[in-house]
Amino acid sequence: MASVTIPRACNFNSDEELYRWYEREFSDLPFEVVYKQDILRQGLAFHESAFYGEYKTKDYFIFTFDRVPLEKMPLEEHLKAPEEIRIYGGPHNLRPTVISVRINPYSPYVVRRHNEKHALFFQGDYVADVDFPPVPEYYRHAHEFTLTKPIGEIAPVIEWGYLIYLTVFRHCQYFGKDEECQYCDINHNWRQQKRVGRPYTGVKSTAEVLEALAAIDKYDHTAKAYTITGGSVIQKLQGKNEVDFYLQYPMAIEKKFPRRWLSKLVVQAWDEDDLRKAWEAGVQIYHPNYEVWDRRLFEKICPGKARYIGWDKWMERILKAAKIFGAQNVIPNFVAGVEMAKPYGFEDVDAAVESSAEGLEFFMSQGITPRFTTWLPEPYTPLGESESAPLEYYLKLLRRYRELHQKYRLPIPPGYGPAGAGKAVFSVSAFMDVL
Ligand code: SF4
Repeated sequence: MASVTIPRACNFNSDEELYRWYEREFSDLPFEVVYKQDILRQGLAFHESAFYGEYKTKDYFIFTFDRVPLEKMPLEEHLKAPEEIRIYGGPHNLRPTVISVRINPYSPYVVRRHNEKHALFFQGDYVADVDFPPVPEYYRHAHEFTLTKPIGEIAPVIEWGYLIYLTVFRHCQYFGKDEECQYCDINHNWRQQKRVGRPYTGVKSTAEVLEALAAIDKYDHTAKAYTITGGSVIQKLQGKNEVDFYLQYPMAIEKKFPRRWLSKLVVQAWDEDDLRKAWEAGVQIYHPNYEVWDRRLFEKICPGKARYIGWDKWMERILKAAKIFGAQNVIPNFVAGVEMAKPYGFEDVDAAVESSAEGLEFFMSQGITPRFTTWLPEPYTPLGESESAPLEYYLKLLRRYRELHQKYRLPIPPGYGPAGAGKAVFSVSAFMDVL
């Protein structure tokens, strides 16, 4: 196993120092997003006292998102940590804020038991009380169905129960460092999960997906959307190309449960004919993720996508998709912060933010609202030894995001639940918290 160094990327020695900096520089943003973005970019540590009670644990729904390899977690956090945390209250009287859990035993943010509750500490200072997500009711009823695997493996929920996340193909055919997106650990994640003995299905059958959804249909009232996704298919997979492989799932789901949930598809940028097929298959929201806006960085960071499709065609297809799905239903993602990764990235925070904002303006001026996730360097990826982008970058990006969203008078993006501080459930960046 390769050795992994964990840079300690924190510039503040106390919660008070962090708060004073926020008040001076970013008080136009909700304070909650400071913790959210900082925890997402650095990861979260758990004291062993935190692991009590009943809650939904991490299902590893697509990537690890963790800062250290599973084998190097001293408390076996990969088996015990919650999927997300919801912080609230504390000395700053925080509004409830949902944050995805990315394990980093070296993080300055630590969850532990405190006054008979879960609580969050930053650099040893008490910051907030913490909820862990409940076990969804349907997880308890899986035995009533014919599933032979844990239901959280086939149809886990994230975003505090809002989104059913169906990673139907757990590999990517962009394989190895010359093709894989340089921040992505989908293939490494699969190998790690297998090594630690987690049942982890390479390709999920439509039959097992439908059976899991039958349990959700019967017992769940929280989930409002599902996502079909997985790695890219460049050759054939089970005799099918990427379009036919992925569309079999929404077709089967929409036939059995028409419009029961909002249907979302995260795949590559497809051509117009294939986009029409997706629309006809019942896909409502399309996510052709462009990952990083800057053309030079796209070619360096996403070499497989750049070679097989290319930056120009990718962006062009996003615009074409808007004509088929409606602009507000095309929501391409970018991995915020990766444009600052060494050795290729921007060294200056403002230059990095301006680059991403240029992409945002390009799309938002045409009615398309991109969204972003927060990059945390995952070990084993080519960018795994890089430092996270600074907190300042994320706060400036959120500010620009909100400004542009307001400038073009765009609607709240569908498929993410409620927007606004204290209400948002989207857990891997704070973009919904600032709208
Ligand atoms: S296309 Fe890139 S981001 Fe998507 S799964 Fe493959 S390597 Fe990961």
